[in-house]
Amino acid sequence: MWRSPFLDPGRNKAESCTPGIVLSGRPLAATLLAWSLVKTTWARMFGRKTGLALFHENYDADRLPPLTEAERKRLDAFSKCVACGLCDVGEGERIAQSKGAYPGIMRIVLASSRSMPDYDAAVLALDHVPEEALREKERVCPASIPFVDLARFVRKKAAAGASAQAMMEARNEPPAALPAASKAKA
Ligand code: SF4
Repeated sequence: MWRSPFLDPGRNKAESCTPGIVLSGRPLAATLLAWSLVKTTWARMFGRKTGLALFHENYDADRLPPLTEAERKRLDAFSKCVACGLCDVGEGERIAQSKGAYPGIMRIVLASSRSMPDYDAAVLALDHVPEEALREKERVCPASIPFVDLARFVRKKAAAGASAQAMMEARNEPPAALPAASKAKA
């Protein structure tokens, strides 16, 4: 059960003498939606950051750039690896020459390209594989992973994350999630 502060704003003081309104089910859902609409409209009217601006404020420090609708759809194609290892056949020499930076394509697909904060490592690894080699590997992958597109996506998002973080640091902004007291000290 949720007691709405919207419908009963003074409940803490008056609870003992004025029973509040208790909601559940559809009335509760409708009230929460209406309350969210009022808060969002109020915030937009009075200039508080919402949407993409708020996303940047919250996540630039973590190097998490936003995705477009098309990019979100493309992520499905990047995540279908079945770990068969076929893309790593013949990669031994490049892996050895990379001195640890390049662990093979499968590990890029399964690990470092799955989390944006790890994209810097994925970019370093991908620098050891020419695009032509990635294109050839697409022909042997049973899951049809688009390696060339994946490499471009990883590079683009790593650059966007680094640039957003650098701009934030240049403005000397602490991450938005820090409490007010911490922001004052930062
Ligand atoms: S060939 Fe394709 S499915 Fe197999 S490990 Fe490589 S990326 Fe995954």
